[in-house]
Formats: sequence, structure tokens, C-alpha cells
Amino acid sequence: MVDYIGIANIQKMVGALGPAVFIEGLAAEIEADYRRWGEFDKSARHAIHSPVGVIELMPTSDGQMYSFKYVNGHPKNTALGLLTVTAFGVLADVKTGYPLLLSELTVTTALRTAAMSALAARWMARPDSRVMALIGNGAQSEFQAIAFHHMLGIREIRLHDVDRKAMDKLARNLHELGLRDLQVRLCKSAADAVQGADVVTTVTADKRNAIILTPEMIAPGMHLNAVGGDCPGKTELHADILRRTDARVIVEYEPQSRIEGEIQQMPADFAVTEFAQVLSGEAAGRASPAEVTIFDSVGFALEDYSALRYLYKLQQVQSLRQEIDLVPDLDNPKNLFGLLAAAPGGTTQAAPGLVKPFAAELTST
Ligand code: NAD
Repeated sequence: MVDYIGIANIQKMVGALGPAVFIEGLAAEIEADYRRWGEFDKSARHAIHSPVGVIELMPTSDGQMYSFKYVNGHPKNTALGLLTVTAFGVLADVKTGYPLLLSELTVTTALRTAAMSALAARWMARPDSRVMALIGNGAQSEFQAIAFHHMLGIREIRLHDVDRKAMDKLARNLHELGLRDLQVRLCKSAADAVQGADVVTTVTADKRNAIILTPEMIAPGMHLNAVGGDCPGKTELHADILRRTDARVIVEYEPQSRIEGEIQQMPADFAVTEFAQVLSGEAAGRASPAEVTIFDSVGFALEDYSALRYLYKLQQVQSLRQEIDLVPDLDNPKNLFGLLAAAPGGTTQAAPGLVKPFAAELTST
């Protein structure tokens, strides 16, 4: 049997802790895993593109456990009443290759992306940051707001989205959280939202080189958390922001970010730092209060590995284990065929009435 976490259980698991505590716990797991960066088998994710989106596979392993995530990105989906990003994933035991957990990762991706953003900001943003602009108010946005409020001490969030309904939805959801120490302001433009902000999170969805932030919007000391540019031809920042001499760009896994991140706009020798180097003390997250720091987030497989392992442990602690029969459980592992005969009402004899028409169908095509 394989453990299974579906939507109903992720609701219960996050509900039991509250999203802020869940995100903080997950951020601690992600940080612990980035601190043992060298133990992970790393590769840029495998992506298949279509004119409207991308479908990606994200595998990694630390030699003990293996994980992969299936994830899509289809910015036009919301016009069809569908999510832009959906995902699921597997955690497996390297010793046997057996899957341990099959889990939903759509909600979990939003939680882990927010956890990673806030974790990076802890090392990169000015410690006195209190005001965040949040541009792009879709599915990921509440998670980002909660993570930055809880983990970074953000006390004012300025919202902007080209879709007024998305802004209203985010404002309503944040209001319903009842966070008395959080002010929420709706802004009519990205420039308005960014003016005077300490942190700027861009989490828009558009399959093109969008320019959400332009150089004149950026003030010394800002931290940019650029989340929405995560595919070839899909970026959010004007390239001149990256070119600033006072800018420091931190990425998750350089080979993948060169393909998918904001830095795809820059030459191959453009200097970047990997987040693991910051945690190991090899590089600074921020060198001075006036520096502009940029977390060029694309999402790396390690974060999903951390998330799957976190879920795997949490469902046990919370007594929420559910199992599915994804893998056969056999007395004699060489007798896989016996499984078919052992099924209730099962037989290994072909039913001629069923086989014939199917065979006829095959030969007639
Ligand atoms: P979504 O479609 O639910 O929301 C995106 C929002 O951006 C929409 O409300 C849309 O109106 C708004 N938007 C589009 N263009 C805009 C513009 N020019 N100015 C202001 N707002 C604009 O998508 P989502 O699930 O919230 O995902 C947002 C983005 O984050 C996607 O691009 C997705 O691929 C990316 N993402 C990145 C990571 C990561 O790890 N870096 C993880 C998950 C999602």
C-alpha cells in the first residue's frame, strides 16, 4: 500500500496548524535540505512546451529518498475556469524504489513557493522591511502574503492586479484571516504599489516577456521576490533592473534558472549566487542596506522533495494516514500474474465474447 494525500487531507493538514505555521514549518524543512545541497542529485527540470503552457517533471534524490513533481503552467486557464498551476508528486524509498507517498501538490506548491520566498527574503531583505507590494493577486498570492507577514514581519501589503476581481478576492481573503496587525491597500498601478515598498513580490502569469517592474520603480535597499517568471520567454522584470551595479541576484539552481528565470535575459556569464551558497556562508544574501536584492525564483525540485517529506511525516503525526493500492502486495513477488486470478471473480482465461470484437476493431483500422 502507498500513502495518499488528496485535497480533503491537505485541507485538514493545513487547517490543523493554520497556513502560517504550516508554511514556517515547511520553510524550516526546505532550509535544512538546502544546507545539505551537495547530497542532492540535481538537474534542470524536464519541460514540454505548447503555445499556451508548459508541463514539467521535477525529480531529485538525496540517496535515501527520491521525489518527483508533475506540474503545469497554463496562464490562460483561468479564463476557462481552471487553475494556472496544478501539480501532484511522489516520494519514494531509494533502497527498494517503492513509492511511499502519492500526494496532491497544487495547494502544496503554493505553500512551498511562499515558504521558499519568505526563507530567501529572511537572508536577503533588509531586516526592518515592513511594507510589501504584491503584484499578481491570483492563486499563489494569499500564500505569499501570509508567509511574508508571519516570517518577515510585513505589516502593510499593497495589492495590484490587472484583474480588479482578483485584487478584491485577495483583499477579502486577507481580511477574513483577521490579522489585526496587517494593513491591506489596493493600488491602481504596479508603480503605486511599489512606491515606498521594502519588498516587492511579482507573481503574475503571462506567457511572454512581460515588464511588470521597470528600472525607475526600484529604490535602493529594495528586495525583489520575482516568482512569476519561470519559463523560457516568460519573465517579469525589465533586464536593466538585473544590470544595476548595486543589484545582487540569487537563484535556486543556476543551470535551471539560466533557462527559466529572469536571468534568461542576461548573457551566460552574468554573475549570480545560488541560495545554498548563502546558507553555507560562502556568499552574502545582502551586503549592505542600500543594495537591491533579487530572488529570481523559478521553483526547484529540492523544495518539492522537502514538501513531500514534510507531508509524509505530518500525516503520521496528525493520524491522517490514508492508503491506496498503487503497488501490488504479493506473497510471491515472482507471481505477479497470480494477482489477476486472485481478484474477486477474477480469471486468467480470456473471455472470447469480449476479445473478438476488440480484435476485430484492431484489424479493421
Ligand atoms: P494565476 O493565474 O492564478 O494568477 C496570476 C495573476 O496575475 C492573475 O490574477 C492575473 O490577472 C495577474 N496578472 C497577469 N498579468 C499581470 C500584469 N501585467 N500586472 C498585474 N497582474 C497581472 O496564477 P498563480 O497560480 O497565482 O501563479 C502566478 C505565477 O507564479 C505563474 O506565472 C506561475 O507559473 C508562477 N509560479 C511560480 C512558482 C515558483 O516557484 N517560482 C511556483 C508557482 C507558480
